[in-house]
Amino acid sequence: MFRVIKRFFRKGEFDCDDVADHSSAYLDNDLKEAKRSAFQAHLSKCGPCQAFVGTLSATIGALSRLPGVNAPSALKQSLLDRMHREN
Ligand SMILES: [Zn+2]
Repeated sequence: MFRVIKRFFRKGEFDCDDVADHSSAYLDNDLKEAKRSAFQAHLSKCGPCQAFVGTLSATIGALSRLPGVNAPSALKQSLLDRMHREN
């Protein structure tokens, strides 16, 4: 509930959690224009998220070359946790 209120007051700006939530869709080119620019706006000012999306993109790219394998969301989450711990 608090998260919803926080989101409302941010007027569509993305934070690190939002980037984590939307990174797969972003890499799939699956975000609507407004979300895509919010995503990119956050990326442009957040080093850990740039690193996260870069790593995720490389991981998905590597996995997608194997038939029938999808990047599990647990992997995505552990990457994000690691980025933020190192920050
Ligand atoms: Zn971030």
